[in-house]
Amino acid sequence: MAETSSEGFPLGPQPGVTYPIRVLYCGNCSLPIEYCEYYPEYEKCKQWLERNMPTEFERVVKLESELMSLYVTLYVFLGEKEEGEGGGGEEEKKRQKRGGKGIMKAKKKEDGPKQVCISRAPRGKKKSVTVVTGLSSFDIDLKVASKFFGTKFACGSSVTGDDEIVIQGDVKDDLFDIIPEKWPEIDEDFIEDLGDQKR
Ligand SMILES: [Zn+2]
Repeated sequence: MAETSSEGFPLGPQPGVTYPIRVLYCGNCSLPIEYCEYYPEYEKCKQWLERNMPTEFERVVKLESELMSLYVTLYVFLGEKEEGEGGGGEEEKKRQKRGGKGIMKAKKKEDGPKQVCISRAPRGKKKSVTVVTGLSSFDIDLKVASKFFGTKFACGSSVTGDDEIVIQGDVKDDLFDIIPEKWPEIDEDFIEDLGDQKR
């Protein structure tokens, strides 16, 4: 942390860096590892990295989760600004007191069917995130669920709303297997694919 100057590029030799700098190449895509994230099979690259260069892997994952939390902040901010829709959950009302039309609370579906919804939303040019809503309707702790997804997919995952989790990366298809596996009460039939969201 401390070795990067606030001006951007650090000047001079950096503590903890071995010179001359060795370019590390990825065994999966053969690009220098900094470029892996632009490779379509980035997830495989990460798996390779985890096996072969655990230190680098940790660094990449840490960096990614830092970026991700920034991103999620922005995502939530934009989402609230655009829609003001919280996604249900009365307990959170206090948090949402902003006045204006923003308080268009979706009524908690007391008698409605329990359902988890999964959709994909674009993130930047090439990437997308996966949005999961409705886990609370099964009384699942969102923080626990988010952490579980993050670990499961080795990617960032955050609680972004009353009943919304955003997972960095396109893991929509995997979720149909993983959710019922983790929470047997959620049968695959309870999971709805909302497809691609335009944001
Ligand atoms: Zn790679």
